Amino acid sequence: MNHGLLVILSGFSGSGKGTLMKRLLEKYDNYALSVSATTRSPRPGEREGVDYFFKNEEEFSRMIKDDAFLEYARYVNHSYGTPAAYVDEQLDRGRDVILEIEIQGALKVKTKRPDTLLIFVTPPSAGELERRLTGRGTETREVIRQRMARAVEESGSMDQYDYILVNDDLEECVDQLHTLIQSQHSQTAHQREFIREIRQELKQSYAAKEREERK
Ligand code: 5GP
Repeated sequence: MNHGLLVILSGFSGSGKGTLMKRLLEKYDNYALSVSATTRSPRPGEREGVDYFFKNEEEFSRMIKDDAFLEYARYVNHSYGTPAAYVDEQLDRGRDVILEIEIQGALKVKTKRPDTLLIFVTPPSAGELERRLTGRGTETREVIRQRMARAVEESGSMDQYDYILVNDDLEECVDQLHTLIQSQHSQTAHQREFIREIRQELKQSYAAKEREERK
């Protein structure tokens, strides 16, 4: 069985990447979404173990000490980390695992595992980003300001991603994301096992043919 692909989806807060992910999982099979641990408080409607594993600082520090994270990072006064065990288990099962994480964590994973696919989601314009952040109505003005400041910072590293995905029309964007991930499977780097097998088979059938001819 082929090993799954590790895919990282990052984007400014308010880029719509959460909705995009949800829709991708509804629409297509074979994706597994990693659930992160965080020290921030749950937003209304968020559920433990579904949206995040909500931890206090002490619990989070213990997970770091136990080497439980594939990566972790600070983002606007809180810690966020990807538990490694689930990711590896799903990859081994051949599922494509998606991490929805911010930029520092993404770059750490890419260094550790260079065949990770990095995709950056952005709204079509800065004005649209501000509208989406304000419209969410769940954050204070100060948090929105901090998230906008972070977006300015993050825009400086967008070019380190493999692909930029503009999220204008949701359905179109979901299909584009799926196509992008699936086409990555065809890259020779991810097809080593198949290449080895077909080479072997070709050699065997050629040898059999030669034997037959000689008879
Ligand atoms: P939010 O508080 O809006 O849920 O997430 C804030 C930021 O943290 C988002 O950019 C999100 O992608 C990122 N994030 C969520 N989980 C993780 C994680 O496990 N690791 C890292 N590095 N970033 C994360």
